[in-house]
Amino acid sequence: MKSLKLLLVMLFSWVTLAASAQQKYVMVIHGGAGTILKKNMTPEKEAAYIAALTQALKAGYAEIKSGKSSLDAVEATIHVMENSPLFNAGKGAVFTHDGRNELDAAIMNGKTLEAGAVAGVTTIKNPISAARAVMEKSEHVMMMGAGADQFAKEAGLEIVDPKYFWTKERWDGLQKAIKEDSTKAVLDHGSKKSELLGIKNRDYKFGTVGCVALDKAGNLAAGTSTGGMTNKKYGRVGDAPIIGAGTYCNNETAGISCTGWGEFYIRNVVAKTISDLMEYKGLSVAKASKIALDKVGKMGGDGGLIALDRKGNVTMPFNTEGMYRGTITADGKIEVLIYK
Ligand code: ASP
Repeated sequence: MKSLKLLLVMLFSWVTLAASAQQKYVMVIHGGAGTILKKNMTPEKEAAYIAALTQALKAGYAEIKSGKSSLDAVEATIHVMENSPLFNAGKGAVFTHDGRNELDAAIMNGKTLEAGAVAGVTTIKNPISAARAVMEKSEHVMMMGAGADQFAKEAGLEIVDPKYFWTKERWDGLQKAIKEDSTKAVLDHGSKKSELLGIKNRDYKFGTVGCVALDKAGNLAAGTSTGGMTNKKYGRVGDAPIIGAGTYCNNETAGISCTGWGEFYIRNVVAKTISDLMEYKGLSVAKASKIALDKVGKMGGDGGLIALDRKGNVTMPFNTEGMYRGTITADGKIEVLIYK
């Protein structure tokens, strides 16, 4: 009788454990937020986005499943999106006012709080790997411009001709932005401050990519990679490579990757604020993320973010029409979403 009772208890706890393991998220990704409306999307384009996001999730999940680290998963996932012209990162990055592609990326290890970032790089095929190399192979956290390009080359990363990043869609986007910027009507979209920053139209689609992963050892990692904002000027750097603004990760709280109008994310130190709200106020990842994003929205900034805590809770809030996003659970179940 006693052993039967014990057996039942064991069976019950196994079933509950198995169920919670299944629901646990191990990865969350985004491919940017912005004016993404179903009416502007062709079925082919929508299918292409869904396929690319799914492929990215699968690439990272394969790393986690084989026992590799969350850093490996983040890097593998972001490679897929950097190599796809659909996203504003790596190939397909937006253009600066001068017609260049200047890329930003950051990665952070939630176990050690080590971080690496590159800003304004122009020749590194996969900026997320350069960010990781800064973290693991240098004593610094952030490198920028020609120096960062040089460092990546010396670290043995793949270097490409800047032409590699050129895509017609982004080039046309720049021409449109330049044209709109010279007409008064479009100035109405932006605030005085944003005009000073050279960003006058808040309706541009953002397309940064980001990933947070939780590995079998229970360690979190977060990464973000972007071309920044169309028509950016004067060596502008966004939030993505700034640790604490667009990217942050701590095993004690969560991994966070942001997308949106970077200036607002920098001024609100969004990613670290979420971590702090969790650490010092005991808030859940969802509550903390909502508070931080609401603040961005109140100040006139738009965008979204993804966050994953070490228990496998996920949140993906945004205040734009859409955000390319997806999750995968420990048992491999994929969900990909675009609109509200
Ligand atoms: N946050 C990025 C930046 O401001 C843009 C984006 O998310 O697409 O550089």
